[in-house]
Amino acid sequence: MQIQHEWFDVAEIGPQTYAISEWGHWEKVHSFLLIGDNKAVLIDTGLGIANIKEVTDQLTSLPIEVITSHVHTDHIGSHASFDNIFVHAEDRDWLENGIQGPNLEQIRFNLMRDISKEVPEAFDINEFYPYQGEAKGLLIDGQWVELGNRSIRIIHTPGHSPGHISIWDQLTGFLFTGDVLYLETPIYAFYPSTDPVLLINSWKKLLTIKGVTRLFGSHNQLGFDIEVLEDVKTAIAYLEQNDLVKWGTGLHSFKHISVQF
Ligand SMILES: [Zn+2]
Ligand SMILES: [Zn+2]
Repeated sequence: MQIQHEWFDVAEIGPQTYAISEWGHWEKVHSFLLIGDNKAVLIDTGLGIANIKEVTDQLTSLPIEVITSHVHTDHIGSHASFDNIFVHAEDRDWLENGIQGPNLEQIRFNLMRDISKEVPEAFDINEFYPYQGEAKGLLIDGQWVELGNRSIRIIHTPGHSPGHISIWDQLTGFLFTGDVLYLETPIYAFYPSTDPVLLINSWKKLLTIKGVTRLFGSHNQLGFDIEVLEDVKTAIAYLEQNDLVKWGTGLHSFKHISVQF
């Protein structure tokens, strides 16, 4: 299926599996649509510069549940267009009562800088407010979500945010790692709501998942090979041996990944 949209790029990355990417923004954010026989799951809703529902409406007519990888503004941009929002309990407060940390001016500044594609005419940065709303339900570590002939598993991977989750898809073997594992730019665990120790534990947890065929982070390069997990092992060993797993130890770069504590 070829989808045209002025802001989003859609890639079919597997059977009934789509990446919806925002290459025109410096954050290079990816959201993912996984379609089953009875319903579809949308992992995150993007930056909010354009409405991702315009894309998902073209890809499926099944009911969509939004699974929030974590509550940062770059992943909840179009949440307001969906009714069934799910989040891990430890990120629920920010979803419902607002994100603590950056103020609105900073958020708007970061949203509008370094854009290489034309922003849709309907978008007005002065009207932009980060999504706030009630969760329909809470996601639990180890939980299976059934889509009809397709199951996905929720894996709690805190550290970048308290309620960050990763998702493993049984059908494709894809592991969606959100903001705890991606390439090209540093993974962030240096501000107050992050926790370097929890992030390292989450990496260890990702290493235990069986049947992973390919990984997809929420930023930058779309999809990467499981050999990156070898780099994760190297990084864990190096950071632990050198007592670097704590705030303020700075930027640590490895072959494929980098992390900032
Ligand atoms: Zn994030
Ligand atoms: Zn992010």
